[in-house]
Amino acid sequence: MLDTITSSPAETEAAGEQFGRGLRQGDLVLLAGDLGAGKTTFVRGVARGAGSSAHVASPTFQLVRVYAGPLQIAHVDLYRLEVGSELEDLGLEELLDQGAVLVEWGDRLETSGALLAIEHLGGDRRHLRLVRELPR
Ligand code: ADP
Ligand code: MG
Repeated sequence: MLDTITSSPAETEAAGEQFGRGLRQGDLVLLAGDLGAGKTTFVRGVARGAGSSAHVASPTFQLVRVYAGPLQIAHVDLYRLEVGSELEDLGLEELLDQGAVLVEWGDRLETSGALLAIEHLGGDRRHLRLVRELPR
């Protein structure tokens, strides 16, 4: 069970990479944490762990970004989402059929799925904790 303190973006990415290696098609992972906590940084590692060489950037102005690879990773960011509005258009089920889905600000969704919380501890220290495991 992931529960660790990282001291740099590289360490958070490495934790994401290890987590990404264990993902499968149909896995939904919700990411919780304030702006700048390291959610996107973690997803960068996850994509690499899932075998993707795609460039991972914040999808803040784009609801979903899809990274191709042995396991497709859909990277969703709900930060700017109006409640209820575009949520139905997200096509979550279809994305889950195609691979794994990671959702920044995912704690806003009322859905099952793993829940990873990233807490800012000050400076470059972050607490990464899997609050809820993948419901497999
Ligand atoms: P979020 O997606 O949660 O808003 P980002 O991953 O985009 O956060 O940004 C995290 C910022 O914090 C980056 O600028 C990164 O370099 C910095 N940072 C410093 N220390 C860490 C750490 N231990 N883990 C992750 N990011 C860190
Ligand atoms: Mg982000």
